[in-house]
Amino acid sequence: FSSEPSLQVDSTEENGFKGHGMLAPFTAGWQSTDLHPLVIERSEGSYVYDINGKKYIDALAGLWSTALGGNEPRLIKAATDQLNKLPFYHSFWNRTTKPSLDLANEILMMFTAREMGKVFFTNSGSEANDSQVKLVWYYNNALGRPNKKKFIARSKSYHGSTLISASLSGLPALHQKFDLPAPFVLHTDCPHYWRFHLPDETEEEFATRLATNLENLILKEGPETIAAFIAEPVMGAGGVIPPPKTYFEKIQAVLKKYDILLIADEVITAFGRLGTMFGCDMYNIKPDLVSIAKALSSAYMPIGAILVSPEITDVIYSQSNKLGSFAHGFTYSGHPVSCAVAIETLKIYKERNITEHIQKISPRFQEGIKAFSGSPIVGEIRGLGLILGTEFVDNKSPNDPFPAEWGVGSLFGAECEKRGMLIRVAGDNIMLSPPLIMTPDEVEEIITKYGDALKATE
Ligand code: PLP
Repeated sequence: FSSEPSLQVDSTEENGFKGHGMLAPFTAGWQSTDLHPLVIERSEGSYVYDINGKKYIDALAGLWSTALGGNEPRLIKAATDQLNKLPFYHSFWNRTTKPSLDLANEILMMFTAREMGKVFFTNSGSEANDSQVKLVWYYNNALGRPNKKKFIARSKSYHGSTLISASLSGLPALHQKFDLPAPFVLHTDCPHYWRFHLPDETEEEFATRLATNLENLILKEGPETIAAFIAEPVMGAGGVIPPPKTYFEKIQAVLKKYDILLIADEVITAFGRLGTMFGCDMYNIKPDLVSIAKALSSAYMPIGAILVSPEITDVIYSQSNKLGSFAHGFTYSGHPVSCAVAIETLKIYKERNITEHIQKISPRFQEGIKAFSGSPIVGEIRGLGLILGTEFVDNKSPNDPFPAEWGVGSLFGAECEKRGMLIRVAGDNIMLSPPLIMTPDEVEEIITKYGDALKATE
C-alpha cells in the first residue's frame, strides 16, 4: 500500500520497461505500471523524509533496525574514518582486520546470558541463520552423528529469506511457489496464547501443552535425528508474539533431555529492544548459538553475526585441524567498515545506557497503545519494551478474521502513512518497533497517530 505516492513511475516508451527497474523485495505487482513506491530520501533522528519533503516518524526503525535513528554523527565518523584507513580486507586464511577482532571480543563481553566462545561474522540475519545450519551439521558430523541433522522451528517464525532461512521460517508465503521448506526442517506450534489457547487454559498450561507437543514430535522423528531448535525470544515478523509464561523454561528442559541444540534468533531482540540487552536475558534462555544483525550496527552498515558456545567451538576447531579448514565464510565476513560502525554502535548503547532508557520510556509506549485495545476492530495488542503488535479481527475474536479483500491492516497502514507515520503491515497484523532513542515526545506522537489512524480505520 502507499496512500500518497511520492514517485510517479510511468510505463514508458522512453525507458522501454514496465514500471521502475527494480525487482523489489517482498513487493506485490512488481510489473505493474501503477507501482508508486514511497521513496525515502533522508533521515534525522527518529524521522525520515520522502523525496517530496514529507516527514514521517519512523515507527518501525527502518526494518526493526535503525536503533540509533538517522544521522548519528559518531557512526558516520566511524565509517568514514575506517574507509579512509582501510576500506576492505578479508578475514579468510588467518588474515583479518583489527575492527573485526575488536568487535568479536566486544560482542562476547556484552552477551552475559551464558558464556560464549567465538563470533562468526555474516552480512545479514538470513546469512547468520544459514550459517547456523551449516555449523550445526559440521558439528554433528565431527561428533560422528551424521543422522542428527533435522531442525525444528515454529510456525509464524521469521528467520530470513535465503533457501535455508526461509525454510526455517514458519510463514507460508515464504514457502509457497519456492518449493520450500527443505525436507530437513520441521515446524512446531506457534506460542501465540491469545490465538491458540484452549478454553480455560492458562498461559502456563498452554506452555506445558506446547512443550509436550515438541517432545512428541522429537520422539516421533527420533531424537537421534534432531539437531537443533531455533526460536526468536519474541516473534517479530509473525506478529510480535511474546512467549507465554514458563514457555522457554519448559522448552529448554525438553531440548536438554534429547541433546538438541538451542539457537536463539536475536536478530530483532538483541541490543535492548525488549528492555534487556538481549532477549535471552529477558526469558532466562541459555542458548548454544545466537544470531544477531540489525541493531548490531544500527543498520548503518550491513552486518550479522553468530555467537557460538565454547563446547561447539572446541569441536569445530578440532575437526577443522584435521580437515585443514572450516570451509565456510563470505568475502565480507567481518567487513572492517561494518565492524568499525558496529563497535561505535555498541559503545553508544553502553555510554547512553540504552536499556535503562528503554525501561524508562517503554511503559508509556506500551500503556498508551494498549489503551486502544477496546476498539471494535482490535483483537489483541501485545508487546514489551519498544516492540508492539496489533491484530485486527472482527467481533474481538481470533476465529473471526476480516475478509482478506477488505485489507484492514493495509487500510490502517495507509492511514498512518497519511498522518506521517511508517509502520509494518503483514495482513491484519501491524507492528511497531521504533528507534531505541525515542524521546517521550516522540512516544506521544506515535500514540496520537496510532489512535487517529485507528479511528479512521474503524
Ligand atoms: N531473523 C529474524 C528474527 C528477523 O526478524 C530477520 C529479519 O527481519 C531475519 C532473521 C533476517 O535478517 P535479514 O533480513 O538481515 O537477512
